[in-house]
Amino acid sequence: MKPAPFEYIRPGTIPEALQYLHQWGDQVKILAGGQSLIPLLNMRLAEPSRVMDINGLEELSGVRYDPHTHTVRIGALTRHQQLIRDPIILEHLPMLVEAAKLIGHLAIRTRGTLAGSLVHADPSAELPLMMAMLRGVFECQSLEQRREVAADDFFLGFYMTDLQPEELVVSVTVPVPSRSSGYAIREFSRRHGDFAIAAASAVISTDTQGRIVQAMVGVGGLSSRGMACPEVEEALVGVKDPQGIREAAERLDNIEPTDDVQASAEFRRHVGIELLVESIETAYSNAKQATKEVTQ
Ligand SMILES: Cc1cc2nc3c(=O)[nH]c(=O)nc-3n(C[C@H](O)[C@H](O)[C@H](O)COP(=O)(O)OP(=O)(O)OC[C@H]3O[C@@H](n4cnc5c(N)ncnc54)[C@H](O)[C@@H]3O)c2cc1C
Repeated sequence: MKPAPFEYIRPGTIPEALQYLHQWGDQVKILAGGQSLIPLLNMRLAEPSRVMDINGLEELSGVRYDPHTHTVRIGALTRHQQLIRDPIILEHLPMLVEAAKLIGHLAIRTRGTLAGSLVHADPSAELPLMMAMLRGVFECQSLEQRREVAADDFFLGFYMTDLQPEELVVSVTVPVPSRSSGYAIREFSRRHGDFAIAAASAVISTDTQGRIVQAMVGVGGLSSRGMACPEVEEALVGVKDPQGIREAAERLDNIEPTDDVQASAEFRRHVGIELLVESIETAYSNAKQATKEVTQ
């Protein structure tokens, strides 16, 4: 199939892009990696009258570590494959490397971008789940203002975000977890490269006695959006045994999986909780090892 006719524009600067969005707002679709947008255009599920290609905006790419705020700023146009290879990401946010490796296939990862995945907001996608868990902050820019939106406020539901039609996502800033933390990501999909039916991830810090002192936990595919699980995180503090981990994971109460052709709601819930237990256990074990190394 072919897309409906549209005007194609490729701005050379961010101000030019913002001016265009300001003028045409919800008539424009932004084209980044095209891995989600192009199929939607070809199937005529989206029929914008204008498509703005942002691939010429080099300022939107790249990764920077700020030692003062202990955060990593990742440009909106950073490709999934760049996340996998970037030395700053590897050093400070290695969990994003593991998450990006799970996305689709090489061709998709080579074109697909961070902001494209976040704005598309598939509830099973890996990067929204990771950004919600890691408390990423999204920089959304329009001609008139710059807003910072917490990941958890950005994802509103199935393929829906808080982004306004005249806004561009410019970057995402992610706080770096402590060096003595451990992490893990687990997901279940029918075939290699498919979107996950359910996914879970955890970043855990422990004290020298092996008690959990801080936990960040996220799930995907279990409700209308990738999300953090504060109720599980709170329940994990002080825990130091497998039984405590399972009890905390079972507090995952605010999920509402739905039946679809891939899996029943009941199956998603069951698999989601098991993946969560497994990711917390692995992150916990890695954290104990990391704490030992840091304190030696
Ligand atoms: C076969 C296949 C398998 C896939 N498997 C997976 C998978 O397992 N896991 C996964 O997470 N993803 C998967 N994807 C999706 C892939 O990760 C996409 O790259 C991603 O969802 C969209 O990124 P993109 O850069 O291609 O965005 P595009 O398709 O170009 O755009 C997607 C949306 O984001 C908007 N947008 C893009 N950039 C910006 C910006 N800077 N500011 C504002 N709006 C913006 C666009 O207007 C559009 O609405 C798969 C895709 C395919 C085709």
